[in-house]
Amino acid sequence: MPCNSDRLCAGHCRACATTHSLAREPALDAALQLMQMLDKTKDMDFSQNTANRSPKLSTDFLYSKALGKMFGVLVCEKNNGELLTLKAFSGQYNGLWEIEGWVPPLFDAENFWNLTTPVEKRIKAIGREMEGAHITPERYSQLQGQRKRCSQDLMKQIHSLYRLQNFNNQQATLSEFFPANQGIPTGTGDCCAPKLLNFAATRKLKPLGLVEFFWGKTNRSSTRHQGQFYPACRDKCGPILGFLLCGIKGL
Ligand SMILES: [Zn+2]
Ligand SMILES: [Zn+2]
Repeated sequence: MPCNSDRLCAGHCRACATTHSLAREPALDAALQLMQMLDKTKDMDFSQNTANRSPKLSTDFLYSKALGKMFGVLVCEKNNGELLTLKAFSGQYNGLWEIEGWVPPLFDAENFWNLTTPVEKRIKAIGREMEGAHITPERYSQLQGQRKRCSQDLMKQIHSLYRLQNFNNQQATLSEFFPANQGIPTGTGDCCAPKLLNFAATRKLKPLGLVEFFWGKTNRSSTRHQGQFYPACRDKCGPILGFLLCGIKGL
């Protein structure tokens, strides 16, 4: 559903006991330009060097089984008054956390792979044992429990890698924003708005406008369509945006 409100990126800030928000309008042109580039190059790497392009970075990925994804643009101002446009893709792109020219995630990607690779191997090994022909029902449910604990522990450890920085130079972890008994929704911190704001805060850039749009094949529930703008999501971004937007001067 397209949203016409000019302020789509907003969240309640506990420290200030108020809602902070960021306008959309200053980032609209840059978002339209990004759409044009995606359409023209059909690639996530806009450099002119077409010979060395990785097939992984083709936008064909967005029209495959993986479907489309959200993209975001943040226009900010540098210390010297120059404008700078940052761009982000939500989550991973075709198994990649980092792509040249796009803002990085809220954690060190190498730490992420070092953490997840061995645990995922272990989870797969448990799965293989569960499919064994001579397995007793007792052993099966024991393994099932093991696999579940492994995945839950891994999620907790992944979430602990995230560091959120705001414009007051404060840092936070994800767990500070979600009730302990409810857990943190999967993918929290991986949307474009948190990636963009965190990056701008760490580089002392002043955000002027932020917009998020969908690009690629329509999602399964048909709620997202290519080229349309959407507000920041409520379940994952809602609880953290107030913190991330805190301290922007002149807003
Ligand atoms: Zn979100
Ligand atoms: Zn605040």
